[in-house]
Amino acid sequence: MNIQLFACAQEYSSKVAIVSNEGTFTYQDLLNASSGFAKFLLLGEDDLKEQRIAFLIPPSFEYVAVQWGIWRAGGIAVPLCTVHPRPELEYVISNSGASIVIANPIFEKLLRPISETLNIKFILTSATLSGQASSLPAVDIGRRALILYTSGTTGKPKGVVITHGNIQAQVSSLIAAWEWSSNDRILHVLPLHHIHGIINVLTCALGAGAECHLIEKFNADIVWSRICNGDLTLFMAVPTIYVKLIAAWKSASQDRQIAMSQGCAKMRLMVSGSAALPIQVLNQWKDLSAHVLLERYGMTEIGMALSNPLRGERKHGSVGFPLPQVEVRLVDESGQVVPPGMPGEIQVKSPGVFLEYWQNPEETGKAFCEGWFCTGDYAVVEDSSYRILGRISVDIIKTGGYKVSALEIEEVLRTHPNIRDCTVVGVEDPEWGERVCAALVLRGSQTLTVESFRIWAKTQLAVYKIPTQIIIVEELPRNAIGKVTKPTVIQYFRS
Ligand code: AMP
Repeated sequence: MNIQLFACAQEYSSKVAIVSNEGTFTYQDLLNASSGFAKFLLLGEDDLKEQRIAFLIPPSFEYVAVQWGIWRAGGIAVPLCTVHPRPELEYVISNSGASIVIANPIFEKLLRPISETLNIKFILTSATLSGQASSLPAVDIGRRALILYTSGTTGKPKGVVITHGNIQAQVSSLIAAWEWSSNDRILHVLPLHHIHGIINVLTCALGAGAECHLIEKFNADIVWSRICNGDLTLFMAVPTIYVKLIAAWKSASQDRQIAMSQGCAKMRLMVSGSAALPIQVLNQWKDLSAHVLLERYGMTEIGMALSNPLRGERKHGSVGFPLPQVEVRLVDESGQVVPPGMPGEIQVKSPGVFLEYWQNPEETGKAFCEGWFCTGDYAVVEDSSYRILGRISVDIIKTGGYKVSALEIEEVLRTHPNIRDCTVVGVEDPEWGERVCAALVLRGSQTLTVESFRIWAKTQLAVYKIPTQIIIVEELPRNAIGKVTKPTVIQYFRS
């Protein structure tokens, strides 16, 4: 298993590990709760043998105890997204073949009916979750630990299977590069069904013996209050969160602004990633916090690959260099490695690269070339530092740090009774990176108001996938072979 993580917890057993709404918990509390929960899950078995256990729990000590308990019982953790509506949750639970669904009581209404429909055991975290098994299994590091669902260029999200060894490699690489230590204290403001929140923040903190302070949901005022306490050493977020924090700083009183800035100054590192960091955001943040945000590049399938340096110059618009244990190459369309200064697709090889797409050998095979993972992102090396140029596919949209598939949204929109056809595009936006926008062709004489559209969409799609702007068109613009010309559609929303 992820030996370093548990060895670290033993080493720092009396130290605080998690602070949340529920209280303050030591590493020993975490070891006890997760072991009790692992024994509860085992129910007379000696090993869960990679059964998938789906769970929906807000960021909390409970979340971590359940995640660790699944790992310690030999299961695969499938964290669900707290803002997904029923169809998306149902897809993940059934695609992963989960044998158990675990829910915090606040999600009972949503999840119990899904478990009943799919005939899957349902457990509430309010029950007594402690078992009597005499021992826990020895889980080999090569075994599967986690499935994270990520959007791709082909319709429905794919399950990215990450082993204990992958997690250990990703965490040790970041701990080394960013010099995490047991003296660190980080405020966790990210979703816990995504690599950024699970690995870069939560598991790195716990793998270093540091303190992780969890808030249930991002809120700029709460985050600023925590920063103002002056006790944090680290902060990591997506660019959209920095934009929101900048807006809150600007609207604060002068005295408050001073306290906010002083809180930032007490930290040793602030990181941005999961989407391109606009230079204006970097500059505004520098003005208010005196921090040059460290921008890094990564992906669910590979963990983190490139990072600006902790010490030394952080270049604007650059994502730096390969992280420890990570090999990166840029390749042109003919598969040739390009020389410095020439653009190419980022390909990655490292012990952190995922094992496979869940039960999808075809997509797994397509994703690799000679043992290198093909990211679908373009970059160029300038002065030995990587600059991201964009994505190969227009069908991948990055909004607020979330990766969404235009094709997946289009498929859902076409199920609306009034929509005959549609196309979804990402349009550049200073706050969200990209905004999800849709051009719709209606059936016959049907009409559709934005309001009724959004009410319907909320029942089908996670809120960050719902188009923020829609336009109704007679026909979609197409090229000679009938393919929708998305660049033209993007222009509709710019004008
Ligand atoms: P995800 O798997 O959700 O973390 O999304 C990964 C994708 O986010 C990458 O393939 C990139 O397209 C994008 N991404 C991550 N970090 C950066 C960055 N620093 N700059 C630009 N794009 C990024």
